[in-house]
Amino acid sequence: MNLYTQISEMFSRELELRGRAFVNYGALDQVEVKDMTIDGFPAKLFFNPARVRSVMADVSPEALQKRACFLCPDGLEPLQLTTVWDSPTGQTYFIRVNPFPIFNHHFTISSAIHERQTFAPHMESMLHLAQAMPEMSIFYNGPMCGASAPDHMHFQAVPRHSMPIEDHFDTNYANAVLVQESDLQSHLAALEKVLSMASIPENASQTGSLTAGASRTEEWEPRWNIISWYEPASSPNSLIASSPRFNTIVFFRRESRPQCFFAPENERILFSPGTVEMGGIGIVANRESFDRLTPSKLRDIIREVADEIV
Ligand SMILES: [Zn+2]
Repeated sequence: MNLYTQISEMFSRELELRGRAFVNYGALDQVEVKDMTIDGFPAKLFFNPARVRSVMADVSPEALQKRACFLCPDGLEPLQLTTVWDSPTGQTYFIRVNPFPIFNHHFTISSAIHERQTFAPHMESMLHLAQAMPEMSIFYNGPMCGASAPDHMHFQAVPRHSMPIEDHFDTNYANAVLVQESDLQSHLAALEKVLSMASIPENASQTGSLTAGASRTEEWEPRWNIISWYEPASSPNSLIASSPRFNTIVFFRRESRPQCFFAPENERILFSPGTVEMGGIGIVANRESFDRLTPSKLRDIIREVADEIV
């Protein structure tokens, strides 16, 4: 059985248990959506109250120390299922249904080892995963860029085309770099080159804390959000023959959270951008933020948190 079929079956089995996943995936029907065309880019805004945990996640070292790790086997809820995936690199990962979904199929892929969020040692596995599941886009949130568990290495997987950037890279929504190569080794080499342009910000003003201007926390890799997906070769019978292709988009980041996150209550917008937001799906968890976030405000926020490296 291929990996995609395996995790789709796990998804159905877990929903049949009628626990938290059943409730939270059912609640996705209630998410309000606003279309926000920005300079030709078809962004969307989702009002999803269940995402409040992620939007407001305090990822300061003190806060992380106080909670049990929800990606380690000991921290799981009783009805959470796991698919074990052995990467061709020799690393092992646990694939699970994301209990706090944004999209109707949403998975977390976490390292079997409790190790902090670091992209480089797992980059090759991410591409193998993309290749194993062309139905899904795989993404990575850097430790200060949207990850709710920066202390435990993980990716997420969502259905292909969930994020508008995958199909509208040519518009000027977020300052990002697209890498495309047909074989894994050349893709890895090209991606490494792109990533090497970034460095850990010396004077970044935000930390993982919920308080603006809190003291800087330790950072161990540049700030970035990364999406990969794989397009298999078209069948020989199709009209236009195409070679297979690995695709990766890298968003370089300057800030963890925009200034409006820390604004006085009457103008605050609780918006904490990760890959999904950089990819064109804005997510807010309260009504005030949903009403205040206009298309031009969203564009300004994306520009504020993005870094112009290239
Ligand atoms: Zn852990």
